[in-house]
Amino acid sequence: MKALMDKLSCKICKSEKVIPYINQSNSVNINSNDVRITDDRYGKTLPLYKCENCTFIFAYPLPENIIELYENLEDENYISTLKPRSKEMRDILKEALKVKPDAKSILDVGAGIGLMVNESKKAGLNAVGIEPSKWLVSQAKNVFNLDIIEGIIPDDKLKNEKFDIIFAVDVIEHLEEPIKFLIDLKTMLNENGIMVIATPDCDSFIAKKMKEKWWHFRLAHIGYFNRNSMTKAIQQASLNLIKFTKQVWYLPFGYLYQRLSSYLPIGFFYPVIKKMKNLDDLPVRLKLGDSMIAFINKK
Ligand SMILES: [Zn+2]
Repeated sequence: MKALMDKLSCKICKSEKVIPYINQSNSVNINSNDVRITDDRYGKTLPLYKCENCTFIFAYPLPENIIELYENLEDENYISTLKPRSKEMRDILKEALKVKPDAKSILDVGAGIGLMVNESKKAGLNAVGIEPSKWLVSQAKNVFNLDIIEGIIPDDKLKNEKFDIIFAVDVIEHLEEPIKFLIDLKTMLNENGIMVIATPDCDSFIAKKMKEKWWHFRLAHIGYFNRNSMTKAIQQASLNLIKFTKQVWYLPFGYLYQRLSSYLPIGFFYPVIKKMKNLDDLPVRLKLGDSMIAFINKK
């Protein structure tokens, strides 16, 4: 029991004041399909606990093979959402360049199919991406002719490399050791470089309204931050928070409609929208405010 209690301390602030949150009886046996980017079984999570000290919410216990799940991840549905997701990356890049206008190089960690790398190259930056999923790395080659490094950080191929901006968009909520992740990123950051960490905000208006039905409650997410716990994590990694902003989302109308139909009985109408190609693909700009972006630099 002692061993169990030790493990149940908070990953961010180390407090042992940890209380059950939701889904304690859920299974921890999950596979690569359960961590797909477009998984829509909202509210289905691993057993979650909450730290009473810093309010970080985290999954416990965890499956043993988390990295393997991502290495074997394939997600055909994701390909249909690339256009709006590119817009999201462009917005985040634009924000980052406001903070670091003289940037010449970027690293995107958890690069997926290479959207941020692609946008950064278009902006004239020297861009490198790293991604664990073999399938996404091969799709990056097919779709954008990009060479994304297959792996996770720290990686030997990036040893001795330093960057002006390091992005991790929707990555930290998937990781077992968020503080170690921030520290690993820090070692790859140029002296005056910045880190840009985007993640769902579980204290946002929408998250609070939707409670356990919030779309970010999903099996792939094992750590849930708010501004308070993210600030703590940044401090624990001996980094400095510059500012928080809210992420703007773009989603294709058809995709959004499908997602909405898991909450409302409107699914029967979807085949009609699917036939209207322009409407199906139409990017809808959503300022939901339920994802936050932390801009971080060295102290
Ligand atoms: Zn805590």
